[in-house]
Amino acid sequence: MSILVGGSVAIDNVKTPSADEKGLLGGSASYAALAAAKLASPVHLLGIVGHDFPASHITMLEGNGVDLGGLEHSSEESFTWSGEYHENMNERTTHNVAINVLEHWEVKVPDAVASSPFVVLANMAPLNQLQLISQCTASEKFVVADTMDLWIAIARDELEEVMAKIDLLVINEGEAREYAGTNNLILAGERLREKGPQYVVIKLGEFGALLFGEDEFFRCGAWPLRDLEDPTGAGDTFLGGMIGYLASQNAVAPSFAQLRQAVVIGSILASYTCQDFSTRALESVTSHDLDSRMKEFELISQW
Ligand code: AMP
Repeated sequence: MSILVGGSVAIDNVKTPSADEKGLLGGSASYAALAAAKLASPVHLLGIVGHDFPASHITMLEGNGVDLGGLEHSSEESFTWSGEYHENMNERTTHNVAINVLEHWEVKVPDAVASSPFVVLANMAPLNQLQLISQCTASEKFVVADTMDLWIAIARDELEEVMAKIDLLVINEGEAREYAGTNNLILAGERLREKGPQYVVIKLGEFGALLFGEDEFFRCGAWPLRDLEDPTGAGDTFLGGMIGYLASQNAVAPSFAQLRQAVVIGSILASYTCQDFSTRALESVTSHDLDSRMKEFELISQW
């Protein structure tokens, strides 16, 4: 069942305590689409890049099964994000965000993919998320969205509109506390559900994720990583992995058990993203790698 992923497609410059890499493939939609394509097909990416976007990134995405028919090419410069991780890799400083092509972007969903039953509103302006969802035509669909502190601060009204139209919100811990107005994460999950989505996932970074349903709750850990190189895109990978699994199960109206499994798969796929810069480790993950890490994860999570 086909998946539509809209969001940023970026050039990232990332510095960590051990390395400094420039011109990397980044962007919420790049990670989410690549992760989804590990589990399901077809995956259609909607985004916009500029004249300076490296051709090698396009080749890599296409070579990994991501359809780029909905990727616009502009004569402006690409969206570029520059950030730095410190000794504690959970802390990130954003040095520069060059909006460029995203400033006046209007999402256009090609007719051929508008009826996709799985829709990912990866991190982008809530206005773009609304444009995307308004062009989706499937009568039965499952819509998942991500957001960030910037939009909670400057586009809250539009974000509230998005919340009323989605089935699942995936949000990180700090942003969940900020958006829900409480430090208690259980209360935050419940309050975010009241804004519209039937399900909410709160991501806890190296500690896993919390999944909230109506009267159901699930806590998933994270794969214990020794070789953490660059956590950029882990959240987007998580999102894409979840939707890829649901699409592979044809689960347009997923059960809580299917959502639990989707959270585990999202969490495991995200661990690969953290093992190298950009999408490098994710690109080479095979279904055999994923299966064996899943089995080990099951063993270490039981008691
Ligand atoms: P994550 O580590 O999951 O928060 O995602 C990082 C990715 O989000 C990077 O590859 C950035 O290019 C992208 N990103 C950063 N800021 C924004 C923004 N304001 N809008 C859309 N994407 C962004």
